[in-house]
Amino acid sequence: MSREPLRLLAATSNRGKLVELRSLLSDLPIEVLSLADVLPAAPPVVEDGATFLDNALLKVRAGALRSAMVTLAEDSGIEVDALDGRPGVRSARFAREGATDAENNEALLAALADVADDRRRARFRCVMVLLDPRSEAQPVVTEGRCEGWIGRQPRGAGGFGYDPLFVVEGYGRTMAELGETEKNLVSHRGKAAREMRSSLEALVARR
Ligand code: IMP
Repeated sequence: MSREPLRLLAATSNRGKLVELRSLLSDLPIEVLSLADVLPAAPPVVEDGATFLDNALLKVRAGALRSAMVTLAEDSGIEVDALDGRPGVRSARFAREGATDAENNEALLAALADVADDRRRARFRCVMVLLDPRSEAQPVVTEGRCEGWIGRQPRGAGGFGYDPLFVVEGYGRTMAELGETEKNLVSHRGKAAREMRSSLEALVARR
């Protein structure tokens, strides 16, 4: 068996996601390469799917087609019950197209300004997809969720995106107040990545 690590394209340009994916897969013989490493000139994929799965498939197919590498993509976001599930697939651009994390957090706080504490329930969801372009097999799909609620002001300096506003159920702390290991344990992305493990191990064994 070859001792070379499996080269895997993580089809994301989100720095926060990339850091977490590298950490989550760090104990596997896998070298996680980013879009910036492999396809620096590729145009961004238009994420116009109606669901997390649609968008994850758009990203994984574009990445695998352009790179001819085993590709992992994920689409994720936050669903707020009082907003009927929004921002959902539009989480990255809730405030506006190209919004910063701070702008999105501000927009979310404004949208929930009149919503009582016991009606601020929310969850992070992550749909992860693995595709080997050399195989006939369908993409492998996993999903992770993390329940919690939206606080009244940002707290904590870790993570990215809506982490400073998202109070994790059972922890009483925001996602941004958890350390990397703790976030990986409870997060939607951590759960989806752990569910993906056996498929990644099978690819590693076949390389
Ligand atoms: P997309 O999957 O590239 O469409 O972007 C997902 C967006 O959802 C991010 O830009 C964040 O705003 C939000 N998001 C997804 N996962 C997390 C997380 O782990 N913490 C905080 N925000 C997240």
